[in-house]
Amino acid sequence: MGLPILAEIERLIVERGSAAVLRERLALANDRFIQLEAQVAKLEKENGELREQLQQLQQQRPGPAPREQFAEARGALFKRTAGGAYADVPYCPSCHLSTSPWPPRTGEYACSRCNWMADFTPRDLPAVMATLPK
Ligand SMILES: [Zn+2]
Repeated sequence: MGLPILAEIERLIVERGSAAVLRERLALANDRFIQLEAQVAKLEKENGELREQLQQLQQQRPGPAPREQFAEARGALFKRTAGGAYADVPYCPSCHLSTSPWPPRTGEYACSRCNWMADFTPRDLPAVMATLPK
């Protein structure tokens, strides 16, 4: 490799019997050019690797924030599952924890941490969930 133009200049110098000093300078310039070429190749390779890493990181970015996985109905939150449907358990709007009926099976859904209570029971659940956004 090297600059073709330098080879041409060198040929002219040799033909016209110019000083060896000039040839030496020419050789130095040529060496420097080769070094720079290698450096450019190295930087291009690094740049390509960084692009790839960036792409991978962008693909790994987490999905929507937890808050966006919930939709509200009758004051309770419902969690979207991976398939886009809702899990049939109301969540506490304050704690984002799943609730359970109190008294068991028949009572209103209640949060065991903050004592929040829904105004509906398991029997109302299908009707409440029918109002959730699709
Ligand atoms: Zn709560």
